Amino acid sequence: MTVDLAIVGGGPVGLATAIAARLAGLEPVVLESRTGLLDKACGEGLMPGALAVLARLGVDPPGVPLRGFRYADARRSVEHRFPGAPGRGVERIALHRALADRAAGLGVEVRRARVGAIVQDADGVTVGGLRARYAIGADGLHSTVRRAAGLAGGDGGRSRFGLRRHFALAPWTDLVEVHWRDGFELYVTPVREDLVSVAALGERGLDFGGALAAVAEVRDRIGDAAAVDALRGAGPLLQRTVSRVAGRIALVGDAAGYIDALTGEGLAIGLAGAEQVVAAVAAGDLAAYDRRWVRTTRAHRLATQAVLRLATSPARRSVVPLARAVPALFGAVVDVLAKPVAR
Ligand SMILES: Cc1cc2nc3c(=O)[nH]c(=O)nc-3n(C[C@H](O)[C@H](O)[C@H](O)COP(=O)(O)OP(=O)(O)OC[C@H]3O[C@@H](n4cnc5c(N)ncnc54)[C@H](O)[C@@H]3O)c2cc1C
Repeated sequence: MTVDLAIVGGGPVGLATAIAARLAGLEPVVLESRTGLLDKACGEGLMPGALAVLARLGVDPPGVPLRGFRYADARRSVEHRFPGAPGRGVERIALHRALADRAAGLGVEVRRARVGAIVQDADGVTVGGLRARYAIGADGLHSTVRRAAGLAGGDGGRSRFGLRRHFALAPWTDLVEVHWRDGFELYVTPVREDLVSVAALGERGLDFGGALAAVAEVRDRIGDAAAVDALRGAGPLLQRTVSRVAGRIALVGDAAGYIDALTGEGLAIGLAGAEQVVAAVAAGDLAAYDRRWVRTTRAHRLATQAVLRLATSPARRSVVPLARAVPALFGAVVDVLAKPVAR
């Protein structure tokens, strides 16, 4: 039997692709190597654009409203609130549960499989023992599908990494807080009425405990609240692609290429890509997805690249002073990142 889509990876973007496919009347199968509720190192802030896609897919994960961003260094801070609807802080396992329930309700099959190879011919693809008209690589930062399809563009050499842990305490903010220090940033996202997510981004070998201890404002708020899980890590973050489509294979989510987590729009771009790739499959024109992805994510990618360039330059210490001195510029960057990716 040949299905329409073999989706490699059952993370948020893979499941969203499967849901969008079912809603379009297509037959998808998801191949995922892990079982249970899938967690991942993530700042867990869903931008308003990500929530908009989830709503269209019929997914409403539980969480805490996010009203904007606050940037701070040791001496000063600046904040900008989203102009429209809020985003939401959502634990990754809660996001996974909501997507998996919706997918199951639509009859999506999720098979346990670790995909190592993928073969395509004129009529379709063979992957994980499955025959499909198209294969979608939704297998994350270190995508096997990206490499197998010849779409990898390298990981950029000296790259950044991310770490994340949860602490059991009531959130003190409705903003994503980004605390800038020499060598790292610390991200605070409220995700439940009794849970705060803390992520750190920096170079390989970053010491999470040391970073947290160095940010007095966050350290003092957390006090003796318990860390409820082990530290999770991800990286290198920078993953380039030469294209998102090769024949009957397309990449979505982090597999499609990733710049950095410092602006928090990864899920918004990935979920938008899920809708776009399904529309292209339904139209029988997979190449149209690549063109659409490039055009519609350009502003988000440029904003992230600009902030990353500053963050990794000698001018890093001027990020917060600059954001404070030119609040319109800071606000414009936040607004771009909050804006839904066009369909
Ligand atoms: C520290 C950090 C903070 C972040 N903060 C935010 C944030 O606040 N907001 C935001 O929107 N984004 C954030 N991001 C980015 C966000 O986490 C990603 O964009 C998102 O997880 C991408 O989802 P995905 O489904 O593409 O990939 P993943 O979530 O990585 O899922 C990929 C899935 O594929 C499976 N898989 C991998 N290889 C195979 C294989 N060979 N066979 C079968 N299955 C396979 C994996 O098990 C996994 O379940 C952050 C990232 C980091 C690292």
